[in-house]
Amino acid sequence: MNEKLLSFILLCTFFLFSCEDKKPIPKPNPKHPTSGVVITFDDKSVDEWYDVDIILKHYSWKATFCVSKINTLTHSEIIQLQKLQKEGHEIAGHGYHHFKATEYVAENGIDNYINKEINPMLDLMNFYSLKVISFAYPYGFRNPKIDSALLKKFKIIRGTTYAALDPAFQYCYFEKNRLVLGIGIDTDYPNFSIPYLIKLLEFAKRKHKILILYGHKPVEKITAKYQTDIATLIFICNYVHQHKMAFYRLSDLDKLN
Ligand SMILES: [Zn+2]
Repeated sequence: MNEKLLSFILLCTFFLFSCEDKKPIPKPNPKHPTSGVVITFDDKSVDEWYDVDIILKHYSWKATFCVSKINTLTHSEIIQLQKLQKEGHEIAGHGYHHFKATEYVAENGIDNYINKEINPMLDLMNFYSLKVISFAYPYGFRNPKIDSALLKKFKIIRGTTYAALDPAFQYCYFEKNRLVLGIGIDTDYPNFSIPYLIKLLEFAKRKHKILILYGHKPVEKITAKYQTDIATLIFICNYVHQHKMAFYRLSDLDKLN
């Protein structure tokens, strides 16, 4: 009797485990990457970036901080950038002088632009162990000639796009191109509103797309231009979590190309 019982238990165990083995394992499908957002910040509000990360790390968010004028940062700001990078955020380039690329190149040529604006930035950021893979254009000023010169230096370059267009006609989604355009989330931007942001996020979710966003200085209370409301950032992080979307950094897009 006991032997029969034991055989029965063994048989059940066998079926249990063989069923377990046959469970389909979800595989990532590179043709349809998980929908998500790239949150980028421009300029050099390093203290504020570091502070907002303390709030948003609870959402396991990942951001890309595009730094300009690296030579003007304090020692403690450099340490903060290194800590952000260590946590998995990306530190990207935004120009050594924050030149308007198109104007500068028209007056001085592309070689001078690379030698004055790009190379010293890369050298100093590299010296600080900041791994710069991506670049965001100051003011979004760009043209195809500068794009092709910068794509020899960076894996991904980011410009800007404007106007609260229907998401289907907006350019702020990753389209398997190394040049991407972000849409602003600073409160003073004419295109910015929470209802429009929801439209953009909904479209990303529905169409399996990656939405590219950019802001500047995260603050609790808006007092000037180029400020991103921390409440907006919390809203985005909540949306990403609730809709099982993903956070991407600019450099992650290169792997999806
Ligand atoms: Zn800028």
